[in-house]
Amino acid sequence: MRLTNTTALITGGNSGIGLATAKLFVAEGAKAVITGRNKETLAAAAKELGPNALALPADATDIAATEAAIKHGAEKFGKFDIVFANAGIAGGTPLGSATLDVFEKVISTNLTGVFFTVQSALPYLNDNASVILNGSVISVLGIPGYSAYGAAKAGVRAMARIMASELSPRGIRVNVVAPGAIRTPIWGPATATPEAEKAFEKRIGMMTPLGRLGETDHVAKTVLFLASDDSSHVQGQEIFVDGGAVASP
Ligand code: NDP
Repeated sequence: MRLTNTTALITGGNSGIGLATAKLFVAEGAKAVITGRNKETLAAAAKELGPNALALPADATDIAATEAAIKHGAEKFGKFDIVFANAGIAGGTPLGSATLDVFEKVISTNLTGVFFTVQSALPYLNDNASVILNGSVISVLGIPGYSAYGAAKAGVRAMARIMASELSPRGIRVNVVAPGAIRTPIWGPATATPEAEKAFEKRIGMMTPLGRLGETDHVAKTVLFLASDDSSHVQGQEIFVDGGAVASP
């Protein structure tokens, strides 16, 4: 039990990587406050996670709603030892056809939302807490169609280093977990049917040195490392969980 007597905030904890992380955190002894927009999946996640979890609706692009959820969570479970700013959307923005609307939605969720989640959590963070931001290999790889997403995730890396400098005096660590392609609903139609999923697995497998699509637990276990005392001297870093995609030529 690596997280006994801790409280964690996980944005986007009702699906994919966030939900897998919430499950692992609770299994390791933490109390978990999860947020998201979809009330149905929030309720299902709360049921699955049990009494040590609290699911609160909050749109990460709405600063007041985020602040209110964080305050409520801290009042119920106590100040936070861990924040996983994970909520994010994909949203293609090809150079030739991207609209301002989609571009701004991706930035406001994946970059601005992450910044204000951490800012809103600050008054409710214990000293020596661990903050983990969810990045992506797309901040490094030139994958066509993802300018806004890649820019937001590169911004997340830059913010993490600056936040780490700002919060080091309180012993608070800020690091980034940067996944490669992971099997979650974010891929939409690419994984919506068994046939599509098989073709997707094959395509990703060919692009990945370890030859496979990543699973949510691969990321959750790395987030657990960054959240726990096992990483107590790791500050301002980014760990890629990508089967070798960024490291390959
Ligand atoms: P999912 O679609 O399964 O999960 C996304 C989560 O983010 C959901 O819980 C969703 O909740 C939440 N979310 C999205 N927008 C908002 C918002 N405005 N306010 C609050 N919550 C929001 O995808 P993943 O688990 O894959 O994605 C999680 C993170 O991992 C994202 O930041 C993504 O960029 C990153 N990532 C994922 C990769 C992958 O291959 N899966 C690769 C690299 C990075 P709701 O449905 O209620 O809106």
